[in-house]
Amino acid sequence: MTDSLSDTFPLPALRETARRPEVVTALRRFFDETDRQIAGYHPTCWNHGHCCQFGTYGHRLYVTALEVVMYLAGGYDLPVIEQDACPHARDGRCQARTCRPLGCRVFYCDPAAREWQGPLTEERLAVLRDLHGQLGVPYFYADWMTVLRALQRD
Ligand code: SF4
Repeated sequence: MTDSLSDTFPLPALRETARRPEVVTALRRFFDETDRQIAGYHPTCWNHGHCCQFGTYGHRLYVTALEVVMYLAGGYDLPVIEQDACPHARDGRCQARTCRPLGCRVFYCDPAAREWQGPLTEERLAVLRDLHGQLGVPYFYADWMTVLRALQRD
């Protein structure tokens, strides 16, 4: 790993943070509340994982430091990254579902979701930003694939 990459993503510190029970508990609470809010909108998944193929779908997923911590706390094996697509997307399913990032939960291509997903993302991101301060975790906001590639090289 280069110095500049380790400056951008302090991976040893993130792995250490993923072992702090109070951090994982706070994140579980955060994601449970997020899921509860999303379920209230009754969204429908239409594309079954195409949105995880970032290059072909034409959008990006950005994550905060604490979302990376939650992912690391899940203890997933990171599959080899072969293209601009999340390697946890398999056969239309997410293999890291329990610990997936906020954007994976909020995004639905269902046109009916457009009204609520922007405001909900902003609201939940604000809560998540505050959580970094409360838990003493330095904040960053970065492209998911860039983070996964850094983890793969680490
Ligand atoms: S973590 Fe899961 S939902 Fe999110 S991009 Fe990867 S496969 Fe898709």
